[in-house]
Amino acid sequence: MSQKIQAVKGMNDLLPQAQKDFKLTAAFWQAFEDAVSRWTRRFGYRQIRTPIVEQTGLFVRSIGEDTDVVGKEMYTFADGNDNLSLSLRPEGTASCLRAVVEHNLLYNSPQKLWYMGPMFRRERPQKGRYRQFHQVGVEALGFEGPDVDAEIIAMSADLWRELGITEHLTLELNCLGNRDERAAHRAALVAYLQQHQDLLDEDSQRRLHTNPLRVLDTKNPALQEMANQAPRLLDFLGEASLAHYHQLKALLDGLGIAYTENPRLVRGLDYYNLTVFEWTTDKLGAQATVCGGGRYDGLMEELGGKAAPCIGFAMGIERLLLLVQEYGSLAADDAADVYAMHQGEGAALQVMRHAQQLRSAGINVLQHSGSHSLKAQMKKADAAGTRFALIVAPDELAAGTVTLKDLHGQHPQTTVAADALLTQLQQWMNA
Ligand code: ATP
Ligand code: MG
Repeated sequence: MSQKIQAVKGMNDLLPQAQKDFKLTAAFWQAFEDAVSRWTRRFGYRQIRTPIVEQTGLFVRSIGEDTDVVGKEMYTFADGNDNLSLSLRPEGTASCLRAVVEHNLLYNSPQKLWYMGPMFRRERPQKGRYRQFHQVGVEALGFEGPDVDAEIIAMSADLWRELGITEHLTLELNCLGNRDERAAHRAALVAYLQQHQDLLDEDSQRRLHTNPLRVLDTKNPALQEMANQAPRLLDFLGEASLAHYHQLKALLDGLGIAYTENPRLVRGLDYYNLTVFEWTTDKLGAQATVCGGGRYDGLMEELGGKAAPCIGFAMGIERLLLLVQEYGSLAADDAADVYAMHQGEGAALQVMRHAQQLRSAGINVLQHSGSHSLKAQMKKADAAGTRFALIVAPDELAAGTVTLKDLHGQHPQTTVAADALLTQLQQWMNA
C-alpha cells in the first residue's frame, strides 16, 4: 500500500460527523451559513464573492508591511507565467475594496456588503487558530457614521441573539482618532517606551518602532504596569474624533447594547481609524476574540479609489461555532425524512419511482443502495436518523402498495395503495 497523504497542518476537513480534535460538522456549518444569509438579508446587506488569490501588493498596501499578517503569515508565491507575486488572502476587506474600486461600485451610491469564505495565515495551529480559517465579514462603504457604526455593531449583536450566545460575548470599544492624532500619540508613546527600554521583551523591542501600539497590547504581565502608565491615545483625540466616539456610545446606549471601553484596544491590521471594536468571550481560552472590526476611512483612497468613509467587521467562523456548539441554540439537521427500502426482484425500481415522487413534493428521501435484508436496511435507517421508512417488498410490489413505518413509533405501520402514499405520509409529517 502507498503511504497516506495527509491534510496540510492547520487546515481542517469538515466531515458529516464530528472528529476527535475538531468537533464541527459540515451540517452544523451549513446551518450557520443558512443563518448568515437570513441575517444579512434582515439588514439589507448584499453578498460579494471575490477570488481567494490576489496580487500580494494588495495586502501589503492595505494591511501594512509591518503587521504580523503581511510580515510573516501570508502564503505568497510567484505565478509561474509572468512571475507576478500572488498571495492567498489573509482577510476579506482588502479584496472587497479592490473589487469595489475595480468595478466602480460606489459610483452611484454607497454599498452595504457581506462576504464569507476561507482565509489563510501561516500561524501556529492550535484550538481556535488555524492556517485555513473562515470569516464572515460585513462592510458598509461610503458612510461617515457614527449611525452606521452603531448599525453594524447592532447587526453583529443580532446574529449573537439568533445563535443564542449573547450572554457569552462582551463588546469592547475604542476610538483610534485620525491619522494626525495617532501620529502625535505615537511619537509620545515611542518616547515613553524608549525611557523604559530595559523592561521590554524581545517582541516589544521589535514592535517599538514598527508597531508601538501593539506593545501596549502585551500579554506579558511584567510589562502590564508600564503599559498602564503609557500615554493614552484618548488624550490626543481632537474634538471631531471625540464627538464621533460620544455619538456612537449614545447610539449604543439607546439601542441597549452594553460595551466596555478599552482604551488599549488596537487591531492587528494597520488600516483602522476612529471606531474599533471586538467581541470577546471567556469560553474559548486564549483565542478569545470572535469578531473584530472598525472604521477604515483612508483605505479606499489607498487602493486607488475615490475617498470614501468605510466601516466593517469580520468574525472567525470556527471560533464562533465552537462557542455556538457548546452554548448556543443553532440546530443542525441534515437527516432525510424518509429511508426508502426495497427487497426482491423489481422492487428497487418501484421504490426509486416512489422516492422521486416524494422528492418532487419537497420530502427528503434517502434511498437504500444495494440488496440487503430489510432488517439490515432498518438498521441503516436508524443510523441515518430518518423519521420514516418506506418499504417495497414482493407483497407490496405484487399488490401495487407501499408500507410506511414511523420509526419514532407514533403511528402504527400501514400499507397503502401506491397512489395514496404522498397523502398518507404528508398526514403523518404534519401530525
Ligand atoms: P487574533 O487576535 O486571534 O490574532 P486577529 O486580530 O488577527 O485575531 P482579525 O484579522 O481581526 O483577527 O480577524 C477577525 C477574526 O477572525 C478574529 O477575531 C478571529 O475570530 C478570526 N481569526 C483570525 N485569525 C484566525 C486564525 N488563524 N484561525 C481562526 N480564526 C482566526
Ligand atoms: Mg492574529
